[in-house]
Amino acid sequence: MVGLSPVARTVVRDGVIDPAVIARYRAKVAYAGPGDCWHFTGAIHPHGHGRFFVGQYTRVDTGDRRDVVVIAHRFGWAITYGLGSLDQVPVLAHECDEAGCQNTAHLAPATTASNHRDWDIRRWQLGSPLRDTRGPAGRARAIREAILTGGDVQAAKDAGVRPVDHDQLPLW
Ligand SMILES: [Zn+2]
Repeated sequence: MVGLSPVARTVVRDGVIDPAVIARYRAKVAYAGPGDCWHFTGAIHPHGHGRFFVGQYTRVDTGDRRDVVVIAHRFGWAITYGLGSLDQVPVLAHECDEAGCQNTAHLAPATTASNHRDWDIRRWQLGSPLRDTRGPAGRARAIREAILTGGDVQAAKDAGVRPVDHDQLPLW
């Protein structure tokens, strides 16, 4: 996986096939219909992505225990397709534009450049999640809060839609 040290990769490699770790990951995913977004209800990165604690390793030189925390949707992808499937994939892009979504059907391997190009186009679409006034992390946290408290998830999403988008959407 891109960006993992060899020892951290070992932890992730073991984690994606460990039933206990997989169960811990799945417990943080709000599963819905096959075409729906499956939002992450665990820790949220400032970029809006889910963060998942896989396990720990011990540094050989200092004896310190180190946490291995990864991007949740990459971990979910690796459970399904294997860790090696991500070796040449710097970005696993969300085609639904929901940064916390774990539905592998909404993810596509991408490059940093192509992902940015798509983002630049889609952020101009009225009502797009990318235009949320709270930013990606604020949006993901609001959705998580709604799920965990039994609230209205759609209302949590709509709360971040820009006023100008509200005005324009009915016209379309
Ligand atoms: Zn999605």
